[in-house]
Amino acid sequence: MWQGCRLVFALVLAGLPSAAIAQTTAISAPPAAPAAQSTELPPTRADILRGEYGRYRANNDLLFYHLDVRVDPARKSISGSNEVRFRMLSDDTRIQLDLHPSLNVDRILSEGAPLKYARELSAVYIDFPATLRAGETYTIDVHYSGMPLEQGRFGSMAFRTDSAGRPWITTACEEEGASTWWPNKDQWRDEPDGMQISVAVPDGLMDVSNGKFVGSTKLGDGYTRWDWLVQYPINSYGVALNIGAYAHFSDRLGDLPLDFYVLPENLARAKPQFAQAKPMLEIFERYFGEYPFAKDGYKLIEVPYLGMEHQSAVAYGNKFANGYLGRDFTGVGISLQFDFIIIHESAHEWFGNAVSAADASDMWIHEGFATYLEGLYVEQRFGREASINYINGEKPRVRNQAPVVTQRGIHREPTQDQYFKGALFLHTLRSVVNDDAKWEKLLRDFYQRFKYRSILTEDVVQFFNAQLGQDLTPIFNQYLRRPAIPVLELKFQDEGTLAYRWKADERDFAMPVRAGAPGALQILEPTTDWKTMRSPAAKDVFVVATDLYYIDVRRLE
Ligand SMILES: [Zn+2]
Repeated sequence: MWQGCRLVFALVLAGLPSAAIAQTTAISAPPAAPAAQSTELPPTRADILRGEYGRYRANNDLLFYHLDVRVDPARKSISGSNEVRFRMLSDDTRIQLDLHPSLNVDRILSEGAPLKYARELSAVYIDFPATLRAGETYTIDVHYSGMPLEQGRFGSMAFRTDSAGRPWITTACEEEGASTWWPNKDQWRDEPDGMQISVAVPDGLMDVSNGKFVGSTKLGDGYTRWDWLVQYPINSYGVALNIGAYAHFSDRLGDLPLDFYVLPENLARAKPQFAQAKPMLEIFERYFGEYPFAKDGYKLIEVPYLGMEHQSAVAYGNKFANGYLGRDFTGVGISLQFDFIIIHESAHEWFGNAVSAADASDMWIHEGFATYLEGLYVEQRFGREASINYINGEKPRVRNQAPVVTQRGIHREPTQDQYFKGALFLHTLRSVVNDDAKWEKLLRDFYQRFKYRSILTEDVVQFFNAQLGQDLTPIFNQYLRRPAIPVLELKFQDEGTLAYRWKADERDFAMPVRAGAPGALQILEPTTDWKTMRSPAAKDVFVVATDLYYIDVRRLE
């Protein structure tokens, strides 16, 4: 994501004194004059090549990757191969993989024989001498090498050193794409069912990647290979290398192994801080069911950037402090009571990694849900009131200038509204459902229905509608596909009559809302047409529960 779990405003805040930060979180300053949103620009050829699920991607279904690489810290280079196993879905002679143009394709082999290929920007089109048949399984080996370009907020693939000068090499490439450092089918719709990751690094260093640790083998040439096995579907951007002189400690949550990797000098700080992981996992398991990657285990790995939801290998760079790099992120006094990166990135194991968006356009399924899960975590630890405050503390960060769901097929990440508006939208939906047990069951059933699958917003809408027996489509559309939030218009008329309606872009928008006399709120059922009722409270005391709904209220004369 362009802010990914990389929240982009951190860049902006990083240089500000803390007083200025407190101010930006505490007041709802009007957004700056609308700039051209990146979500509205015409796509480039690169955007289309990367984002489009075209013929040469759609004609096959990924089964398995074996990424087998050697990383040379001195040369800042990577070389090796990815064995790609796939099943054809239709007869064809060509498939598309992806590899950044800065990296060299050395050769592509099918059963030992070289295949022809053509490159355009990051796309690698591979041609087969005979037609691949629908239903048949094929394996190719893509050999590559080069020096990955360090790019993007978290470096994509970054060759750094730790404070002792030892190599510290990490990957985080959600925005830039996994093909910035390894060849793969770099899109969101199709995931392999599993993956083997073999990484050779100089003796004395280790690589921590996704999945279950299989073993390490001394290669006798100054390198040691570290083998990991991913036993679940995985996003291409979720695949990670973490190479360093890590210290390791572990724990268990029932049968689930919890493994922690930090630089040796941070061991004493990491142990108490990472103790937050276990009760957090218990909270999310209570809501949604078993940790999604039980066979692979749960890992937290120290990295030199803020954090990323790498599947079963969560990247952690929050400096062993609570809040967001030690700051009260929502400005309502709750953020400093837990480690934002541990909670947020781990929430992605359920939403982002297990339930995944099939296109970057629908990334709110990762970010809106993960942000909402922070609120559920707060609710379990500190109560409903604290959770409502926490979620409402996100309102000043929403800009409402572009739809949360962007155009499909061009790999264009939504604006940061996908986080906070996404969470506030789910918070609002809960108030619409107005039954906590029903809401929690709905969330759990939704997760269970779609875990290990890649879905679009339409799937979410359809599932929620079917489970609730209601058509909430206009509500989803207003919050996710329109820039503006709904406005409750109120007109207090003579003789105690109240006229009310929703002002919304969706003609069929209808959403119940709590309003009335303080302490005796009732549920109004406004639509986009005016309705009238005997006002439940005089004009000057009439209130709307805006803490339970993300809406605006306008009183008309
Ligand atoms: Zn996130």
